[in-house]
Amino acid sequence: MVSNRALAEALFRLAESFPPGDARLAYLRAAYAVFDEPKEVAAARRLPAGIPFEVLPTVSLLARCRGEDALAAAAARFSGGYSGHRQGLARQGFFSAAEVLALPVEEQARKLRGAVHFHTRASDGSSSLETMAHALRRRGYFWAVVTDHTQGLACVNGMDSRALELQKRAIARWNERHGDELELVPGVEAEILENGRLDVPRSHRQGLVVLAGLHTGLGSSRDQTSRLLRALEEPGVFALAHPKGRLFARRPGIRANWEKVFAAAAAAGVLLEINGFPRRQDLEPTLAKLALELGCRFVLGSDAHHPRHLVFDRWALAIATAAGVPPERVVNFQPLGRALESPGALS
Ligand SMILES: [Zn+2]
Ligand SMILES: [Zn+2]
Repeated sequence: MVSNRALAEALFRLAESFPPGDARLAYLRAAYAVFDEPKEVAAARRLPAGIPFEVLPTVSLLARCRGEDALAAAAARFSGGYSGHRQGLARQGFFSAAEVLALPVEEQARKLRGAVHFHTRASDGSSSLETMAHALRRRGYFWAVVTDHTQGLACVNGMDSRALELQKRAIARWNERHGDELELVPGVEAEILENGRLDVPRSHRQGLVVLAGLHTGLGSSRDQTSRLLRALEEPGVFALAHPKGRLFARRPGIRANWEKVFAAAAAAGVLLEINGFPRRQDLEPTLAKLALELGCRFVLGSDAHHPRHLVFDRWALAIATAAGVPPERVVNFQPLGRALESPGALS
């Protein structure tokens, strides 16, 4: 039986064997549909709904292949023969949805106490703070750090200092009413600028849990070790968000000397995020394992922009499990007080 991961990869390669146009688009859509399908396609009766009509027979034939060699041979028959830009590197080390959802992580998931990375309408999330908070509570969380984007990210409607103040007040109001069920903690997802400084001045970081992340310069092939090292020296950074900045099938993420970065993070007490957003999955298992060996601690983040994204904590758990990260090195398993004990927690 071929896995969704292998089938999707065959479809991505088929897409890349056609020049930009309808055939490429149809195979791309099919590839994503298979990759995101919650159940293994080869074992299911029906193909995922998102597969375009014109490639259904091909996908159906490929899904019935008995193994990866047979799959490669069968796929070769449909190749468009075009050799252009390939993105295979940007697809390595990702779990398919079916792989994640087949993992027996329910027991571990029940032990998750806190959520550390999600967005609301105050930046580029789709829902209000209240809606997200209720959804987090229903998911069994006891505490959650609100981490909307800051102003440096003009493209995603980041918060300025006034918006931050308003959000802090909304958080206080929530905590007055529902804090005994779910305690919200004000935070931000700040941008690491080109020079390694953050887009939120120190004076505005008071009392905030700061995730620092790269959202610009991610397509560049230059080494960005010094940018990250500089960010790790910034006072009050709680965690490095999606450290590699990779995006499934789009870009492999930045180049850096990860040993140096992780050693510096461990020394500074800055946590590393394992971001479970399926298109990110960042850190990936091999890098998370390296970070673990270098003494780092972790936060698991769903990076939810919508209540239904909260399930992406499963992806983060899958990566942590694959990397062998023990629960005691992950702050989400701790009560709020302990979780925020890290040196960079509240500046
Ligand atoms: Zn981000
Ligand atoms: Zn985010």
